[in-house]
Amino acid sequence: MTGIVVLGSTNMDLVVYAARTPKLGETVTGREFRTVPGGKGANQAVAAARAGGEVAMIGAVGADGYGERLRHTLEASGVDTDLLRTAEGPSGTAHIVVDDEGGNAKVVIPGANGTVTELGPGDEALIETAGTLLLQLELPLSAVQSGADAARRHAVRTVLTPSPAQPLPPELLAAVDLLVPNEHEAATLTGVADPRSAAESLLRQVPEVVITLGAAGSLYVARDAEPVRVPVPRVTPVDRTGAGDTFVGALAVALGEGRPMPDALRWATAAAALCVTRPGASTSMPYRPEIEDA
Ligand code: ADP
Repeated sequence: MTGIVVLGSTNMDLVVYAARTPKLGETVTGREFRTVPGGKGANQAVAAARAGGEVAMIGAVGADGYGERLRHTLEASGVDTDLLRTAEGPSGTAHIVVDDEGGNAKVVIPGANGTVTELGPGDEALIETAGTLLLQLELPLSAVQSGADAARRHAVRTVLTPSPAQPLPPELLAAVDLLVPNEHEAATLTGVADPRSAAESLLRQVPEVVITLGAAGSLYVARDAEPVRVPVPRVTPVDRTGAGDTFVGALAVALGEGRPMPDALRWATAAAALCVTRPGASTSMPYRPEIEDA
């Protein structure tokens, strides 16, 4: 029995640190360049495994050095990669500029992720054994829908991070139990800028919603529970890359352990706050004892 299955992307993050992101046509001299294993799927898998979850990853890496490193990073954090395929061609890459405020701008090239158009042999059997399926939108939508449909068939809780932001087919939202957009994604999905109003509007399509609000914390709303606002602890942000994924991974672990939503949200908030104080995405995700100390 695997607690958490992640159906999602793996990307090598090619990260540049500079005072600010360049404007169109402008050149800025940066400070440092790093290659950091990432991708929203892999990040959520690593975050959940480090937070103490039993995690397996479905998706694809490319047949290149990045692919080998991406697979190794997942395994080093204890993620089961038996059903992570190696596709022909390059791994996915994300080209990221991180500025001095810890904000980031990003171009993602799907590479191997684009080959995952449907569930492969063994994928549904694995999802069937899980308590929670984590989905994001960096794989082709057909694969995301197939995963959500499989989870529904087996009464597995489905958590969707709707990133990158895009309008979604109603049939996908109909198969989701918990939607976790950030403020920008919530506005894209609803056309409503105010998070509280956007959250209420999303409840027409999904039973539970958590909107993450960056340094302002998060807001939880549900069809049959009171709203919860969770503030963040005061920290000095270094790099917010991966904060949302850390939040979701830790949240999935806490919910899987049967913690009530307000407790699970506080746990996820502590994990995400640790992530923003360190550079990189997967490299900055905290381990369970650190979250407990926080
Ligand atoms: P994303 O990374 O998906 O854009 P957010 O920026 O909303 O998502 O951040 C996700 C979560 O990370 C927030 O809900 C919050 O708990 C935490 N977080 C983000 N920025 C900060 C910060 N400056 N200080 C503490 N926690 C933060």
